[in-house]
Amino acid sequence: MNKRVKRRVRFIGIVSLLILIFLTWNNNIQGDTNKQDDDKGLDTTEETFKVVIDPGHGGKDVGATGTSSLYEKDFTLSLSKKVNEILEKEEKIEVYMTREDDTFISTEDKYRAKFANELDADLYISIHGNTFESPNVSGTESYYYHEKFKSFAEIMHKNVVSSTGFNDRGVRKKDLFVVRYTDMPSVLLEIGYLTNPQEEQIMLNDEFQYSVAESICDGVKEYLEIE
Ligand SMILES: [Zn+2]
Repeated sequence: MNKRVKRRVRFIGIVSLLILIFLTWNNNIQGDTNKQDDDKGLDTTEETFKVVIDPGHGGKDVGATGTSSLYEKDFTLSLSKKVNEILEKEEKIEVYMTREDDTFISTEDKYRAKFANELDADLYISIHGNTFESPNVSGTESYYYHEKFKSFAEIMHKNVVSSTGFNDRGVRKKDLFVVRYTDMPSVLLEIGYLTNPQEEQIMLNDEFQYSVAESICDGVKEYLEIE
């Protein structure tokens, strides 16, 4: 081999090595973020996480009527405002509410889910109070729809149940449009039964609502792995 050929071979060798190093490095970075995306459905490339809080019902849609003739729509808004108040203090979280007052939201155009999708939200939490014809039924239950988001519902449920201290009625799959049509991890929380007189009285208590709000925030932070 003459000198010129030797130099060329060495040059090609170095360039190939550099390309290889760059490709490996690039792949590692993408691999890491993709892994997180697949596991939790989160976009971890963003600096902050958008969390949507959805107070159930509103306006002429009063939701359940509690034993004391309280409306579910008022309970959900009261609790959601407390969640908003606590979550807002988190640097890495931006909170958005589907309604901030007694506004009626039609279910026809699936606005609640659309709101979260158009926002490109990271998490969606719908807050409700339950109802049943028998006043004896009581407890906390949580709903999800997409299997891949079940783990989010489980984490939220675990936190909420520990703060309500109510009967643990479990995490259930149900075709509810807010969890079905949201593109991000979503959950519908039925905090307790407004048709159970004892449970309703507890749910109306401000201190109780703050402790539940706190647990919802704990669940969010646990899922997002932020401290
Ligand atoms: Zn409801």
